[in-house]
Amino acid sequence: MPPFHIRFRRFVSLNTTIRLREAQIYVSLSDLLEGAPESVIRAIAHILLAKLYRKPIDAAHNARYKRFASSTAVAKQTELIRSARGSKRYFGPQGHYYNLDEVFDSLNLRFFGGLMGRPDLTWSEHHAKRSLGHYDAAHNTIVVSRVFDRPSSPRYAIEYLLYHEMLHLKHPVKMNGLRRCVHSREFKAEERQFPQLKEALAFIKRL
Ligand SMILES: [Zn+2]
Repeated sequence: MPPFHIRFRRFVSLNTTIRLREAQIYVSLSDLLEGAPESVIRAIAHILLAKLYRKPIDAAHNARYKRFASSTAVAKQTELIRSARGSKRYFGPQGHYYNLDEVFDSLNLRFFGGLMGRPDLTWSEHHAKRSLGHYDAAHNTIVVSRVFDRPSSPRYAIEYLLYHEMLHLKHPVKMNGLRRCVHSREFKAEERQFPQLKEALAFIKRL
């Protein structure tokens, strides 16, 4: 058996890696797993070794690990730690052309009867085109890319983007067995109610 070097590292997720280098095995585990029950650690060891040596993964071990990873306790802990560690920079809702709080409030009235609590809204630091918007549950913050804060960006585009993120607040991620369901059927049905959906998607595509 080759010598093992195993350490827990400060990962924000349950990230685990295994490598074989110069006849020695290096394993990195998230410190989120430090307090995991022994059966879970055992399952992880099995999965890692099976992957390393390209052997089939035992279904029971696989299920044991997945169940642990998707359990709410772990999800909560992951989020707490992410929230404590994340040094999120906050730029606020006021842009050059649009104020996110104002757009949120008008959408809230139009589509949610004014009943949705307003999370923190902030423009992104950069003119990101990869991530146009996202809801960060750990910080209860909606981040919108600055590319929408310019005169050439129609109001319906930013409205659609914010509306989509608001639907994420309304429809939290569901576990469908072992799968995470982010955009559920109800989510999509409600998204289709946005009047300028087609125009907004076309604009985003051009972007
Ligand atoms: Zn989404």
